[in-house]
Parts: sequence; structure tokens; C-alpha cells
Amino acid sequence: MRENWTYSFTQLEAFAGCPRQYYLPYVKGVRQPQTEDQERGDILHQVVSGTLDTGEVPEDIAKRLLEKAKHLSVEEHLETLGQLARNFLDHFKPSGQFFTERKVVREIAPGIRFQGKIDLQEEVPGEQGPAVRITDFKSGWTRYRPTDKAQLPLYALLVAEERGLDAVTARLWFLPYKRAAVEEEVIDRRRMEEAREWAIDQVSQIEAALELPAATGFPATPGSACRLCSFGAQCLGLDVPPAAEDAAALALRLERALDAVRGLVKAQVDTGGPVRVGGEEFKNWPRVSWSFDTNALAELLQSAGQDPYKLLVPDSEKLKTLLKGKLGEQIRALGKENRGTSFAHRSVGDSAA
Ligand code: SF4
Repeated sequence: MRENWTYSFTQLEAFAGCPRQYYLPYVKGVRQPQTEDQERGDILHQVVSGTLDTGEVPEDIAKRLLEKAKHLSVEEHLETLGQLARNFLDHFKPSGQFFTERKVVREIAPGIRFQGKIDLQEEVPGEQGPAVRITDFKSGWTRYRPTDKAQLPLYALLVAEERGLDAVTARLWFLPYKRAAVEEEVIDRRRMEEAREWAIDQVSQIEAALELPAATGFPATPGSACRLCSFGAQCLGLDVPPAAEDAAALALRLERALDAVRGLVKAQVDTGGPVRVGGEEFKNWPRVSWSFDTNALAELLQSAGQDPYKLLVPDSEKLKTLLKGKLGEQIRALGKENRGTSFAHRSVGDSAA
């Protein structure tokens, strides 16, 4: 067993998804800067728990955090983050004592220390006395049930053992959703024990892998885990140059390399059918688009109590054309320009030529 090591669900999930994704940060110590999505999720968590703890207005907390943020700006993100926090606060009614961002560390088996960070833990009144409810906030749109993954059963196990309980209510609260944002289940001892077994199995595999050369113990296993992996460059053995121009030059070459590889896969799919890799399938997926009689659609929406003008907004490409010339000036006078930035590269000509 690794001495003084504490496992977490994030670590075990990383290893289960792809051993190399575990090895790079947790064995080799490779650290990646926080991505924009991670920063957004982190700030949203802090806004929600800060508001619960202090009663402060969400926007005030969000503003302070955004002022120090690397990727997000106050101008572009304050309103959205405030709204997302309110989606939760409008529906959360605390019924008893609660704790936010509670860190619990316990041995889940001899020598295996496991740590959980519980976003919200509440004492809720129950028929047989107060019960414990734990909530994990999610900032993404993908929905699932609390027992679909081992995270909440493991957190429930930590709390159940700490408090001598047979069951713990667990909730996932999907913050982007305004309505029906919660998935709730009661986690019993059987499910907690299944999660414990899964965790022990992952830890045993990690400990065994640590005895082997990295390439054998922690092989790269491309698949669905790659979608959220921050170690794509290191996984390919690429040294990203520190100078911005060199890194940008590498990005240009990689874009072309990716196009070439994707082209090869597409050619194989066109002749030989779908190609599957670790839970991902490359194939010519069906694509559906609709066209309507706009007047008839507007009438139908109106008769169904929907405001057609809110739904039938011209897309940015159509707007580009509409905003030209005299008519464009008149349209501009009706609207409010929202400015932002999007990261990309564009052709600006070669000044050295
Ligand atoms: S990019 Fe994919 S294969 Fe490579 S470490 Fe990440 S998850 Fe594993």
C-alpha cells in the first residue's frame, strides 16, 4: 500500500476510465492548468455554498470570484452564474442543520484511506427520527441517477459509518436545469457495500500497477474517458513548447494531423462500416434537420401559449447579412449588441512575406 495516500472518487474513476489518465497526475505528478469549464464549475460550486453559508447575494460572491478568475470575466459570466445559483436557491428549502463542502476521510478497508467532499449534507426530519441527506452539485447537463456511479454510494458509506446509519438519502442537483433538477435515491447498505468493493478493487489494481513499468501498469486506453481528459498532449508524448508562438505552430500542425487521421478513419468507415474504440463509435451518424412554413409555425406556437418571437430568433449567420446597409442600421437601433470573445485562429496574412 502507498504510505500516507488518500484515495478519492475522482482518482478511482480516472483509473477505471483509463489507467494512463490516473498515472499522469497521481503518480508522475503532471499538473494541468484549470480549464474554462473546470473554472466555471468550481466558481458555481463556491457561489452556491457561499450563499448557503453566509446568506450573501450570489452575484456578490460570483463577482469577487470572477475578478480573480483566469478564463471567465465579470462582464460575460456574472449574470449566468448568478442565475444558475438562483436555479438552486429558489428550490432549496433547508429543513434542518446543514453543512457545505464537508470533507470526510475514513478507512474503507484496512490500509485504504478514502476521502469524500460532500457539497451539502443535511439533517432532514424523518418518520424514525432525523435522517441524513447528501447532495452533490453538478454543473453539466448530463443527467444520471445517484447510484449510476459509485461516488454517492461511497460518500453515503463514509457518512453511514461515521453516524452508524443503515441508509442515507443521496441527491444529484443539476444546476443548469431550472425545473426538475434533482435526482434522488435512498442508498442502502447493500449498494454502499457494492461501492466499497468496487473501490477496493480499483485500489488493488492501482497498487499492482505501481509495481510494473508505467507503460505496462498504466497503459493509455483511448475511449470515452478521452472526452474529458486534460492530458491529451502528455498521453501522446508531446512536449508542449513554453513559447506561445511555438505552441501555436504546434497547434496548427496538430489540427492538420487530426484532419488527416480523421479522414483515414472516415474512409475506413465508408468502406468497412462503424469502428468502435473504448465506448466510442465512429460511423456516419444520421443527421436530421427540419424546415417549416414560418407563418404556420408562429401561429401554432402562439396557439400553444408560446411567444414565437422569443423562439424564432435569426441565427448569427443570417444576422450578419441582415445587419448590413441601411436596413442593418435600423435593425441595430432596435437591438442591444452583446460583445464577447471566442478563441480561434484566423488568416491575417504573413507580415514577413
Ligand atoms: S487522452 Fe485518452 S488515452 Fe490518453 S490519457 Fe487521456 S483518457 Fe487516456
